[in-house]
Amino acid sequence: MQFSRVIIVCFSFVFTVQAKPHLFSLNDTLGCGYQVCPATDPNKINVHLIPHSHDDLGWLKTVDEYFNDQTYYLHRWWEMQDDATKENVKRLINEGRLEIINGGWSMNDEANTHYQGTIDQFTLGHKWLYETFGECGLTKTGWQIDPFGHSREQASIYSQMGFDSFIFMRYDYRDQAKRKSHRTMDLLWRGSDNLGKDSNIFTSTFTRGTYAWPPGFCYDISCGDAEIVTDEDSSDFNWNQVVSDFAGYIADQVQYYPTNNLFITMGDDVHYTQAQKNFANIDKLISGFKKYNPNIYGKELNVFYSTPSCYAKAVNEYVIRENAVLDHKTDDFMPLISENDGCWTGFFTSRPTSKRYERISNHYLQATKQLIALAGLPQELSFNLANAVGVMQHHDAITGTELQAVEKDYHRSLYAGIFESVQHISKALTKLLGIEQDIDLHYCAWANVSICHETKEGNFRILLYNPLGRTVTEYVQVPVDDGAWTVTDPEVKKILMFKAENIPPLGYKVYEVAKTGDVSELSNQTQAIADRNKIGFEKNYVILDEETGFIKTMAINGFELNVTPKVMFYYSDYGSGAYMFKPDVNRRDPVSFSDKVENQITTSDLSIEIRQEMRDWGIMTIRIYQDTDYIENDWLAGPVDVGDGSGRDVIIKYTTDLATAGTFYTDSNSRELIKRQRNFRPTFNYTNGEPQSGNYYPVTTRMVLRDEDRGVQFAVIIDRAQGGSSLNDGELELMVHRATLRDEFGGEHLYEMEYGTGLVARGSHYLTFGPVNSERNIYPLLCSSPNNAVPEKAKSFLNQDLPDNVHLLTIQRWNDDANTYLIRLEHFLEKDDDSNLSTEVEIDLENLFTVFTIVSAEERTLNGVTPLRDVSRMNWPQLNDEEERVLGMKNRSLRDDTDLKIALAPMQIRTCAQIFSMTRWLLLALSVYGIYGNPVDFTDDIPVCGYDSCHSIDHEKINIHLVPHSHDDVGWLRTVDQYFYYQVQYIISSVVSALLENPNRRFIQVETAYFYMWWNLQKDETKSQVKQLINEGRLEIINGAWSMNDEANVHYQSTIDQYTLALKFLEDALGKCARPRMGWQIDPFGHSREHASLLSQFGMDGVFFARVDYRDKSKRMRKKTMDMLWTGSANLGSDTNIFTSVLYKHYSAPGGFCFDVTCNDQPIIVDPASPIYNWKSRVDSFADYVRQMLQSYPTRHVLIPFGDDFKWEAALNSYINLDRLIEGFDKFNITINKLPVNIIYSTPSCYAKAVRDYVEEYNVTLEVKTDDFFPYADTSTTVWSGYFTSRPTSKRLERFANNLHQVAKQITAFGNKPADTNLQLSRAMGVMQHHDAITGTEKTAVEIDYHRSLVKGMNIAISNISTTLSAILGLDKDLNLKSCLLSNVSICAESSGDNFNLLVYNPLSRSASHYIQVPVNDGEWKITGPSGEVIEGFLSNPIRNFDYITQDTRKETLNKVLFFRAESLPPLGYNVYNFQRVSLVSKSKEENVVDVGQIGFSDRYINMNLHTRLLESITLNNVTLNVSQDMYFYNSTTQSGAYIFQPNSNSSIRFGDPTDLIITEGGNVKEVKQIWNDYVTQIIRVFKDEDFVEFDWVIGPALSTTSGDYFSKTVIFYLRDVKVQTQISYYVYLTGKTAQAVGANGFGKEIITRYTTNLDSNEEFYTDSNGREMIYRKTNYRPTYTYTDTEPVADNYYPVNTKILIKDDTTEFAVLTDRSEGGSSLNSGEIELMLTRNLLHDDNRGVGEFLNESEYNQGLVVRGSHFVTLGKSLDGNGGRTMAAVERDIAQRKLLQPWVFFTPEDVSVKQLSFLNKELPENVHLLTLETWNDSDNTFLLRLEHILEKDEDPTLSQEVTVDISDLFSTFKIKSMKEYLLAGNTPLEESTRLKWAQVTKPEDESSPLSMQNRLARDITDLNITLAPMQIRTFIATVE
Ligand SMILES: [Zn+2]
Repeated sequence: MQFSRVIIVCFSFVFTVQAKPHLFSLNDTLGCGYQVCPATDPNKINVHLIPHSHDDLGWLKTVDEYFNDQTYYLHRWWEMQDDATKENVKRLINEGRLEIINGGWSMNDEANTHYQGTIDQFTLGHKWLYETFGECGLTKTGWQIDPFGHSREQASIYSQMGFDSFIFMRYDYRDQAKRKSHRTMDLLWRGSDNLGKDSNIFTSTFTRGTYAWPPGFCYDISCGDAEIVTDEDSSDFNWNQVVSDFAGYIADQVQYYPTNNLFITMGDDVHYTQAQKNFANIDKLISGFKKYNPNIYGKELNVFYSTPSCYAKAVNEYVIRENAVLDHKTDDFMPLISENDGCWTGFFTSRPTSKRYERISNHYLQATKQLIALAGLPQELSFNLANAVGVMQHHDAITGTELQAVEKDYHRSLYAGIFESVQHISKALTKLLGIEQDIDLHYCAWANVSICHETKEGNFRILLYNPLGRTVTEYVQVPVDDGAWTVTDPEVKKILMFKAENIPPLGYKVYEVAKTGDVSELSNQTQAIADRNKIGFEKNYVILDEETGFIKTMAINGFELNVTPKVMFYYSDYGSGAYMFKPDVNRRDPVSFSDKVENQITTSDLSIEIRQEMRDWGIMTIRIYQDTDYIENDWLAGPVDVGDGSGRDVIIKYTTDLATAGTFYTDSNSRELIKRQRNFRPTFNYTNGEPQSGNYYPVTTRMVLRDEDRGVQFAVIIDRAQGGSSLNDGELELMVHRATLRDEFGGEHLYEMEYGTGLVARGSHYLTFGPVNSERNIYPLLCSSPNNAVPEKAKSFLNQDLPDNVHLLTIQRWNDDANTYLIRLEHFLEKDDDSNLSTEVEIDLENLFTVFTIVSAEERTLNGVTPLRDVSRMNWPQLNDEEERVLGMKNRSLRDDTDLKIALAPMQIRTCAQIFSMTRWLLLALSVYGIYGNPVDFTDDIPVCGYDSCHSIDHEKINIHLVPHSHDDVGWLRTVDQYFYYQVQYIISSVVSALLENPNRRFIQVETAYFYMWWNLQKDETKSQVKQLINEGRLEIINGAWSMNDEANVHYQSTIDQYTLALKFLEDALGKCARPRMGWQIDPFGHSREHASLLSQFGMDGVFFARVDYRDKSKRMRKKTMDMLWTGSANLGSDTNIFTSVLYKHYSAPGGFCFDVTCNDQPIIVDPASPIYNWKSRVDSFADYVRQMLQSYPTRHVLIPFGDDFKWEAALNSYINLDRLIEGFDKFNITINKLPVNIIYSTPSCYAKAVRDYVEEYNVTLEVKTDDFFPYADTSTTVWSGYFTSRPTSKRLERFANNLHQVAKQITAFGNKPADTNLQLSRAMGVMQHHDAITGTEKTAVEIDYHRSLVKGMNIAISNISTTLSAILGLDKDLNLKSCLLSNVSICAESSGDNFNLLVYNPLSRSASHYIQVPVNDGEWKITGPSGEVIEGFLSNPIRNFDYITQDTRKETLNKVLFFRAESLPPLGYNVYNFQRVSLVSKSKEENVVDVGQIGFSDRYINMNLHTRLLESITLNNVTLNVSQDMYFYNSTTQSGAYIFQPNSNSSIRFGDPTDLIITEGGNVKEVKQIWNDYVTQIIRVFKDEDFVEFDWVIGPALSTTSGDYFSKTVIFYLRDVKVQTQISYYVYLTGKTAQAVGANGFGKEIITRYTTNLDSNEEFYTDSNGREMIYRKTNYRPTYTYTDTEPVADNYYPVNTKILIKDDTTEFAVLTDRSEGGSSLNSGEIELMLTRNLLHDDNRGVGEFLNESEYNQGLVVRGSHFVTLGKSLDGNGGRTMAAVERDIAQRKLLQPWVFFTPEDVSVKQLSFLNKELPENVHLLTLETWNDSDNTFLLRLEHILEKDEDPTLSQEVTVDISDLFSTFKIKSMKEYLLAGNTPLEESTRLKWAQVTKPEDESSPLSMQNRLARDITDLNITLAPMQIRTFIATVE
C-alpha cells in the first residue's frame, strides 16, 4: 500500500520579542541569546515582561483544527511560508527579537512520559530548529508552564541538553505558599542523584496558578480588559492609572522573589493571533513607566521586554554580584496538589490504553530508526511516526486529559505512523539483506485482542526483531484459530505461545508457523498440579489460599514471598475527573470485588496460567514461566460498571508482608528511583487533605517496596504509566483503569468508549523480587510475513552483545548527506543498584556494527545538537565542585573524536554523532545563513497603482473578484476611540503585515478617520511599507472619506468637506496612488442621487452598495441589472454618470466562508491525510455560489466581498484561506458555465474596470438610472424611513456646527492662520456624517461622545476666531468672543449683563439681513447699530420655561428674548451691535387677544381660527392660501426603531386643539404662541421683511404611555456623567426599565406636524437631495419598479434635508427645515414632517437600544423651526420665481449670521473681507486655507440654482474674482476636482460609450473648456448647479 506523504505537524514554542530597535542592515553582527538581553539595573527593581502564547498540541480540538483555526505552530507554519517571510523570521531570531524557548516538539507532560520519548521529542524539535535557524534557534531555557507537576528527570534531561533554566507554574500549593514566604520562588534544582553537579539547573516558579496576563492587563484580541489609551484628550484616557495599577501588581509580586528581578508573563492559551494589539499595549505600558516613574519600596522600576532566558541571566548576575545563595532542591515536584482536596493524581492513569499505545508506538519508532540507520535509508522515513510520538508527549495527550475526539485523532496519527514504519522496516531489511523481493512485513495492530488477519490462515512466518543491544529470550504470543500448530520450536495453544530464544542484538529471527491439524492437541489438557495449592514449576510457582482461592505466596527462583494480588476499586467523588483522583469521602477505602475467587488453571509446557475472574470487568491472569525472573499478571479491566451512578477507579493491590516503614519507591520517567514516604513531603509540611490520592505518585515503569531489615525488595514493572501508592506498609497499589461520571472542570467526563461499549483495558504487571530489569519495555518486535521467505533466518547487525548494564538508547540517521548518525549509549543502572553492574563500563564503538565502521564520534548534548566542547552553562558558585572522570564535563570535552572507547558512569547517557567518512563536523558548524535581506528601496519605484495594478482578467473566463475589506463604523455601538483602540488599529496593522508577506493579496482601506489615527501612531519604517503597498495597488484606498457618510440626512456641504479633509490627508501622506477611484457605500440605508453626483465630481468611477429596496433588488436580480449606470445630476451632464453596482448578498463573506478570527466557519484544510480535509468540497461549494451569482450580473465578472463589521483583526486567518481558495480553483480545474475560471484578489476598482472593458468589448447595454434609491425597505413591512428623523437634536447640532465650521474656515483664511486651526471641528464634522451618527442610529453613549467631540471642536473654533479676528483688527487685547450655544434654551451668560456687544458675522458672499434673537433679562433695552443708529427691538417671552436645564447645568436661564433685525450684514463680514439695558421695566406688553384673528403686516400675515386656535391661512408674496397646521402623532409598532418607521395605523392622531393661544406683537415681529399641552408648544412668527412665516416648535419631554391619546410625563432613568473618565459602561441607559415602567402594551410615538392646504397637488411633491437638486416624488409610486402598498405611510416618507414642496399649476407651497427630517405628502395639498420620535422598542437592526431619548434628567425636549413660504411659482417675489425665493431662504438658514458676544468695545464696527458681493445665484461655497507653506487657499464657487428654476437666475453666470478679497489678492488659480486633491488635468475617469457624451465646448461644464482656462484668468463662469473648485495662490 502506498501511504501518502503527509507534511506533519506541530511545534510547540514560545516566542518573545524584545524591544531592541533594529534597523535593517547588512552590517549587523549576529546577536541572540544572552547577548541581546536588556541590561538590568542593580539599583532598581527589574521587571521582565514576557510575551508568550501557550499553544496546546490538541486539547479541546484536534491538532489539525487548532492549526487551521488559530495557532501557527512554527514548523507547520514554516512549511507554508515563502522565502521572504522565512528570511524575516530568521532575522528576528538572529537578532534575539523572536526567541524560541523550550523548543521541544511539544510541551511534554512530566508524569507519564518515558525519558526516551522526552529525549526524542526534544531531539526532533532542536534538530529542526538548528538546521533552520542556526545557533540562534537553539535555546537554553525550559518552559513547562502548563504540565501538572514536575519530574526530577525532566530537570536532569534539561541539564544534559545544556539548558540553564527551567521555568514552570503548577506545583503543590503548600510548597508554593512556603516558597512565597521564604522568597524561594527561584531555586537551584538537582536533576539526578547519579550525574553530579551538571544536573543542577536554575528553576523559577510562578506565584499564581496561571501563566496568563496579570489580572486586568490582558491585551489579547480575546480579552475584554481596557486598552491603554495615551491620548489625554480622549475620554478613555487611562495611561497613568494603568501604570499605577500595574506598579501595584509588581509591588505584590516582587516580595516573593529573592533578587531584584521579577518576571511577568503577558500571554495565555493561544494568544497573539493578532500580535499588533498585544504589543501596542505593552509598548504603552513600558513607556508609561518611563513617563510616570512610580516607586516601589523606595526603588525605581526598570520595566522592559524580556524573555525567560534573560530573566535567568539577570538572576544569575545578581547572585554572583551579591554572593546570594538560592534554595537547593533534590527531590521532585510531584504530585501536584492544587488545594486541600485537589489532587492531580488521576491523570497518572487516565486513558490507560492511550498510554499503552504511546509505549508501543515508541517501540516501533526505535526499531524503525535503527533499521533505517543500519540500511542507510533517508532519515525522513521515520519522520511521521517520530512526529506522532512527539505530539503524544504533550501534556494533554499522554496524560489522557484531552477530549475523546482528540484522543482518537492522536491514535489515528500513531496508527498511521506505525503502519507506515512497518513498510520502512520491510524496506530496510530487504536492503540490508540485499534481496530483490520486498520482504513485505505486516503488523498486527490488534494482536492483544486476538485479531490478526495475517495469522488467520494456514502457515505463516513470524519475524522477531530485537531492538536491544544484547541477546534476549522472549515468550511470544500470537493470536491464532483453534487447532494444532507447530513452530520451529515448541507447541501451541489457542493463543499460540512460543519461546523465542536468543534473538540476537539489533537483529532478528524468523519463525515458521504451520498448522498441522484442526484439533488442538493441548487445548483440554488437564492441569499439572504438583500440590493442590502450589501451582507452577519447580522454582517459579504460587501458593493459593485454601479458603479464599487468592494467591498467598509467590516464588521466583525458589525465593518465596507472601504476595496477594487483588483487583479492587475506589468509588469516585464528583470531584474526580481526567486530572484529579478523588475517592468518595463516604466510601474512601478501596473495595474488593469479592471475598473468594474461583481459579481457572491452564497448563502447558511453557507456562501455567491462573485466571481469576472476580467480575466480568476485573480479571487477572497470573502467568508463571519456568525460567523467567518474573511472574506476569496479565490484567484486564472494563467496561467499568457504573450502573449505580458512581464512577470507579480500578486498582490492583499487592499485599506483602514486607516491613516498609511508610516508604516506597517510584521511578522518575523510567530512570532513577525516588524514595517516597507516606503522608510526608521532604521540603514542606504535608497536610492530609486526601489520604489516598494525596499519596499517589506517577509510576512510569516500576514501583518498589523494600524491607531494609530483611533485605528483600518487591517490584512491579508496568507496561505503561500508572498512578500508584503504598497506603499501608507492605502494600503496593497501582491504578489501572478509570471511569468518572463528572468532570472536575466542567468539561467532558472520563468514561471512555470503544467498539460501542465502555473501554476495556488490558495490560501486564511483571512482578519480581531481586535486581530489577527495567528494560522490560523493550521487547522484540513482532512482524508477520505471510508471503515471502527471508533468506537468512537469524541475523544481527551488531558484532557483539553490549554489556548487561548498557543500553543502546538511540541509533538514528542524523544527516543523510554527511552520512552521520546519532548514537546514544546509556548506563541503565543507578550507582547503588547492583554491586557488579553499577560500575563504570566502557564500550568500544569502532567495530560495534556489522554494516558500517565508525571513524569518529563527537560527543554532544543530550539533544544531539551542540558539541559538548561548545557548551558553557551558567555558573552557580554555591554548587561549584568539579566532577571527576567520565561525568566531568571537562574530561569529556577534551576527548579526541577518534577515541571510540566510550566509558559510562551509572545512569549516564552519552550522545555521539558519528561519521564514517573523514568529512569532519566543520560542515555543520560553518553553515552560513543568508539571513540579512536587503531592504527593498521602493522610494524610487514608479508607482503602478490604480487600474494598472489589477490582477489580469480574461473575458473568455469567469472572473471572480475577491475583495477583502473591513467595515469599520466610525462609532455605532462603541465610540470612535473605543473602536479604534479596541479593534481598528489592529485590523490595519494586521492587514499591512499580511499584505507585505504576499504580493498577490489585496485589501481596501475605507474609513480615513481611522486610517488617520492609525497613521499617526506608526513609525517611519511602517509608513514607508504602507506607501509601497499603496504604490503597488496592494492596499487600495476605496471611498477614502473621513467616514462612510449617510446619504439621507447629510447636507452636500458637509459631505464635500469630509471628503476634502480625508483626501487631502491621504494625498499628503501617501501621494497620488492613494486617490480613491470608487465609492464604497456598503452600509448606508438608501442612496441619494446627489451623492452619486458628488462622487463623480470627486473623480470617482463607480459606487458600490448593498442596501437596495427589496422590490428593486429582486427585479434587478431577475433582469441582471445589478450593475448599472447612474446619472447623478439633472444639470451637470454626462460627467456625473457613474458606474453603480449592487452587492449580491450584503457586504459580508458568502455564507460558510467567513474565515475571520471571529467566525466559526470551516477553514480550508488542504492536507489530504487530515481526517477533516475539505479543500475540494469547499472549492466546489464556492463555485456553486458563483454560478448562482452570475444569474444576476450582466457580465462574466462577479465581485465577492470578504469582510464584515470590524473583521480582519487577525488578517492571516482570512488570507491563508483565501490563498487556498484561489489555489484550489486551479488545482481542481473548476469550470463554471463551461468556462474556465479566473479567480483573483481584487478591489472594487479592478471589478469596475473589468466590467467596463467587458461592456465595451461585447457591446453590452447597462441600465441607466436617473432617480434615487429612497426610501429603503428590506422587507414589505420594514421601511427604513425612521432614521430620517431619529435623534432630531443631534441632526440639528450637526447643521449648527457646519454653520460655525464655515465661519471658522473663512476667518482662519483671512487671518492667514495654519490650515489645521480648525482640525478638531473638521474631524468631528467628518465623523458626524457617518451613517450611524447623523442618522441617529447609534447607541446613546456614542451619541454623547459625538456631541462631546463636536462641541469641543466648536469651542476651539470660537476661541481661534476670537484671536484671529483680534489679530486682523490689530488689537492688543483679545476680543474674547464667545458664542451662546445654548441660546435656544435661553441660556447665555454673555448676554445676562446690562451692557454687551454683538459681533454678527455673515458667512454668505452677499449681504444679508437677518432677525436675531438674544436671550436677555427683562427690561428696556437700547440697541445701537454699527453706524450709531438706534435699532428697534422686540422683547418677547421664551417659548418655554427652560429652568430644568438650570438645575442640571447650574447655568442661569434668561427670562426674555430680544429680537432685532440685523440689517445689511456685509458679505463675509460683520456688523457690531451694542446692547444696553436702560431700564429694568420693559415697555412691551403681552395680551391675550380674543377677537383679532389676523396677525402680521399689511402684505404678509396669517389668519388664526380663534375657536380651534389653529392656523387658517397664510398670506405671502401676494397670495393668500388656505393653510391649516396641526400637531399629530402615530402610535408605533414594536418594529419601529432607530432605523425603521412603522406606525400601527395609517391614521395619525391629533393632540386635540391647543389649550392656549398667546399673541405678542412687536414693531417688526408678530408672534402667536399655541400651547397644546405641557409637551407641545409652537410659536408662529411673521416678520415684517421676510418671505417666510416661521413655525418655531418645542416638543417634549414626551414619553409614550400605555394608552393611545395622551402623553404623560415619566421620569427616565438617567445616569449620564460626561466627567467620568473611565469607560466602557459609564453611560448606563436603562431603557429596559423604562419600557417596563410604561407597560408592555405601550406604544411608541412618532410626532409629526402637518400643513394642509387647498392646493390640488395631485399627490405629487418634491424633496431636495442633500440640499441640492430637487427630486420628483409621487405618493404610492416608484419610477423604476412596481410599488406595493404594504406600508402606506412609512413607504411614502422621504428624507427632507432642507426643503419639501407641493404645487398646483400656478402656486407653490414649500416648507424649509433647519435640519433633516422625514417628510411626505400623503394626500394632495398636504405636507407632513416628522419632528421627533419616542420609541419603546428596538427594531432589531443591530443598535440594540430603543430610541427614547433623555436629557437633563427628563425626556428629550426638541426645538426647531420650519420656514414656510408660498407664492406664484413663476413670480414668487420681486420677479424671482418661488424656486429662487426658496433657494435664498434655504441658504440664509443654512449659513446664518453667526453671533459672537464680547464685553469689549470693537472699534471697527463693520467690516467685510470681500470688496464686492457676489451675484445672488453664486455662492462662495468654500474658502479655507490649503497649504500654509505655499500660501494657497481652497476656493469653491457654486451656482445655486438648477437650470430651469428661474428664467434669469438659472443662466450661466460669470464672476470676476481677481479683486474679490480684501485681505489678499489672488495671483493664479488652478482648477481641481471637487475634493481639491486632483488637478483637473489629472482626472481620467472611465468612459462608457453608452452614456459618456462630451459637453458643448462653450459650456463651463465642458472639461475641455475648463482645461483650456489659463490659471491667471480669474473670470469664472458657472453653469446651473455647477461647483468649481480651485486652489488659489495669493500674493
Ligand atoms: Zn456601518
